[in-house]
Amino acid sequence: MPQRPYIVGNWKMHGTRAMLSEARAIDRAAQRHMKVEVAIAPPYTLIHPVHREAEQIAVGAQDCHHEEGGAHTGDISATMVADAGAKFVILGHSERRQNHGESDALIKQKTNAALAAGLRIILCCGESEKTREAGKAVNFVKKQLKASLPDFGDDTDLISEKLTVAYEPIWAIGTGKTATVDDIAEMHAEIRTLLVSLYGEEQGGEVRILYGGSVKPENASEILGTPEVGGALVGGASLTADSFMGIALAAGDAEEG
Ligand code: PEP
Repeated sequence: MPQRPYIVGNWKMHGTRAMLSEARAIDRAAQRHMKVEVAIAPPYTLIHPVHREAEQIAVGAQDCHHEEGGAHTGDISATMVADAGAKFVILGHSERRQNHGESDALIKQKTNAALAAGLRIILCCGESEKTREAGKAVNFVKKQLKASLPDFGDDTDLISEKLTVAYEPIWAIGTGKTATVDDIAEMHAEIRTLLVSLYGEEQGGEVRILYGGSVKPENASEILGTPEVGGALVGGASLTADSFMGIALAAGDAEEG
């Protein structure tokens, strides 16, 4: 059975406890829109407080370390975020790749660590403007994704629940620019083909593929109505309940339409 549209807020390095009221408002609104699965990934410091208050939405982390514990000052493991109440973790976000030099190989280690800790994964991929202009976006994204996916081994039963892919063209993140519907459709179809070839129709055909990059209430209907778009990963517009739930509403409408 197809999964519900998935709308995930990435709060990035925004939010102190004063933002808990916004999380509460998102949670309350999500209870009225059950056709859509709504989740937020606040900074580490708010995972537990949001988890304690949320009745409907899942809370997740924006990253985790690839090891379970040890001498890694300032780092946080998958087990720790799960212990704080996280149900999922975003991995391979372009801001991690760029600002922290994260390679595909490291992200693969992180996705494996997340699986071992029982977390669901939102694995990000996306090309730079230069790569797109050179006509190499599709090959680049497929290679990046393939190299960062976890090893599911023989445990293939629940891949479509454990894994979500987020296609986020780097040049569209936080810039107000969005990819064209045709480009989104092409990339999502290519990612779907890859997932089916790796995991078969039953699981690979059901993994949700989110789009991310300047999604807002005004453009959400068009983006979420695009074939193979199973939801959105939302940065800036997830910081207020009004704009974030505007996107969730559009997701519910796209599902019906
Ligand atoms: C993101 O950071 O994942 C993102 C998509 O950000 P924005 O919506 O602000 O472009």
